[in-house]
Amino acid sequence: MKEECKWVEVVVPLPFRKRLTYALPDGLSAPVGVRVLVPLGPRRLTAYVVGHPSDPPPEVKIRPVLDILDQQPIFGPDLLELCQWASRYYHESLGEMLSTALPGGINQKDTRMVSLGDPPSAEAFAGESQLEDALSLLAGGDQRIQSLCKALNCGVRQVLRWEKNGWIRVNYALQKGAAKAKTSLTATFTAPVETSKRAPKDKRILEFVQASESVAVAELRKRFGQVRGNLKRLEELGGIQLEERRIMRDPSGMLFSVGSEPDVPPPLTPEQVPAVAAIEAGVRGGEGRFLLHGVTGSGKTEVYLRAIATALEMGKGSIVLVPEIALTPQLAGRFQRRFGSSIALLHSGLKPGEKLDQWTEIAEGRRRVVVGARSAIFAPVSNLGLIVVDEEHEASFKQENKPRYHARDLAMVRGAQEGAAVVVGSATPSMETLANGEKGRFQVLRMESRVLDRPLPQVDLVDLRTERPKGKHRTVSPKLAEALKETVEKGQQAVLFINRRGFSSCMVCMDCGHVEECPSCSISLSYTQRYEQMRCHYCGYRQPPPKSCSQCKGTSFEASGAGTERIEGELRALLGPEVTIGRLDRDTASGKGLIEVLDGFRERKTQVLIGTQMVAKGHDFPGVTLVGVLHADQGLRFPEFRAAERTHQLITQVAGRAGRGTEPGRVLIQTYSPEHYVMQAILKEDPEGFVRREMVERQEFGYPPFAHLAVVLIQHEDGEVALKKAQRIQGFLERVVEQMEATRSLYLFGPVFAPIQRLKNKTRLQILLKSSERSLLHRVL
Ligand code: ADP
Ligand code: ZN
Repeated sequence: MKEECKWVEVVVPLPFRKRLTYALPDGLSAPVGVRVLVPLGPRRLTAYVVGHPSDPPPEVKIRPVLDILDQQPIFGPDLLELCQWASRYYHESLGEMLSTALPGGINQKDTRMVSLGDPPSAEAFAGESQLEDALSLLAGGDQRIQSLCKALNCGVRQVLRWEKNGWIRVNYALQKGAAKAKTSLTATFTAPVETSKRAPKDKRILEFVQASESVAVAELRKRFGQVRGNLKRLEELGGIQLEERRIMRDPSGMLFSVGSEPDVPPPLTPEQVPAVAAIEAGVRGGEGRFLLHGVTGSGKTEVYLRAIATALEMGKGSIVLVPEIALTPQLAGRFQRRFGSSIALLHSGLKPGEKLDQWTEIAEGRRRVVVGARSAIFAPVSNLGLIVVDEEHEASFKQENKPRYHARDLAMVRGAQEGAAVVVGSATPSMETLANGEKGRFQVLRMESRVLDRPLPQVDLVDLRTERPKGKHRTVSPKLAEALKETVEKGQQAVLFINRRGFSSCMVCMDCGHVEECPSCSISLSYTQRYEQMRCHYCGYRQPPPKSCSQCKGTSFEASGAGTERIEGELRALLGPEVTIGRLDRDTASGKGLIEVLDGFRERKTQVLIGTQMVAKGHDFPGVTLVGVLHADQGLRFPEFRAAERTHQLITQVAGRAGRGTEPGRVLIQTYSPEHYVMQAILKEDPEGFVRREMVERQEFGYPPFAHLAVVLIQHEDGEVALKKAQRIQGFLERVVEQMEATRSLYLFGPVFAPIQRLKNKTRLQILLKSSERSLLHRVL
């Protein structure tokens, strides 16, 4: 049957929907799931085999496959089906979806390499300010076109223009991916042999290899010193075999700083018992969708752990999705202590090679429990029994760049496809999930009290209009200052949360109020004192702080907006030098830094932890009795229909860090709008009240869950071109809606500037589509 396949149908990892047909060279086979190297236009790239047409499409010239890149399929029918669904639902290309689903850095493709051409005449340099730089860079060796453009800060078009003049040459060269399997020379025991009496070391080495069956030569070298001659003799005698073997890098060493002695599961609380039972029944029956709606500290994680254990007993695997930010050593450690080496971790901190190894170990069935950020929904777990989406309301489950997808949606689809139970859990479920619960699409499991009957923290609002912080540019009110002092005096710990969503410390001119912005994005540059630097958090642009204002030439600046650094300084002044303070934000919290800060706080080396979103998520620090929220209103001003919901979630989450140990907790929220329904709901500990009110707002303005939205984003370097195109697309959409006679059920808004108007040198406009019928939206799109 395979021999009869003369052609393959492939998709490519580009924003390009069409399936392409290529001819298979005689005698070769490439089943579905295998990658092949194909020519496309002038270049070569990796493509995914998705079918075998019995006849090639007529009248197109069929080109041959250049190489078959996998000996066995790297994706199976399940993953293909999931990606097909996602590609239809999110209107993305199947090739890009597959590329996101598979480990990164494994594909090869042609990239354009630039080399020197004919030396230009002296006149050529006139008006070509960057040409000289380009030529001197190239004199040092050929460059990838992207690196050259980056170094010169110019566009690809510029370089191609120089090529037309013959000054430089551009050629394609095949580049391998960054993710490589690692191998090492390994000695494997084959048979007991008689070693020479004159070489006693041979005997010792052979015994060692025999005892461990198979051992890396590097390891032998560590133990026995030089071993080359000995190994060669042993191989000739037939005692061992030497070969290159794949070795798996284990990235967990860096993450599990909390020790990995196995733990003993605690007896379940009365609320956990029925929740675990319901989910276990779902795992056994191979179906079921559950919403685990439990207050912070009610022991949701323990419920997941039990259900995963049940799945493992049945030989089934599990996937646990957590927000990237929650992938802390602590959470990883909890899973590690329970399940040991069955755990695979997938997060953005892994190098491409490490990710590939984790992925391989999952695919080969050695790691059965996958804990990871959103892309872990594609993990190649076979015989899947359970998918958990923890903190399901988190925005980070949605991928905001191409290909766009929502991991929570995909969890539902994958669960149904593969007969796995799906649990989404949160203390503050999203409005969509709550509405789905109402409609019976989830079995709702409630947990309303904390483990061991620990009380929820006592919440107070601080009205910043009347209880102002003392002193200029201060952020901490007297009431919060007092509470902080009390807390550290008692030897307890405090968390201070700075709500900085869409907001950061920027440099404001004291004369004209001008704020320095990134030259390529309409985003104010944030100022980091530590590096004496202004930075764009979107594109990475950096510059030194301005000496004079670019608008009015004024020379006095102030860092507005309380960055974590400034508040740290304020607290030092307030609490005195003997109180130690830890800080978590995007500058301090990457890799090792994050672990150090969290460990320091857990071991109570620091008494106060201040930070942004990162302090809000999932941490379980029993010593924390006070949580302070600065700038509680900040998120409310964000121009987005989910602003109130997000603020409510965030404050509830961070408040939930207080009083998780034996001492009760207290929360102080500083706000300019204590009467706002978000603040009132938090004050009265009435999340249902918030949800009722928010549902009314959503219904009135026609937002999810009462309507479905889609956005068409138009971006271009030239703002006018962007606007013209956006208007044309708008006109086109209007005609489509008219033709479909849907003007009364589908509404178009725009084009308007996107919330971030300029990003990476492109002007961005958007058209919003709104309808209560999802299928109608899909048809129009
Ligand atoms: P949530 O995820 O709902 O915020 P956690 O799962 O983090 O809550 O649980 C809060 C704390 O309670 C953790 O320290 C956890 O170890 C502990 N815990 C959970 N379940 C139990 C139980 N049944 N008995 C004792 N302690 C528990
Ligand atoms: Zn920028």
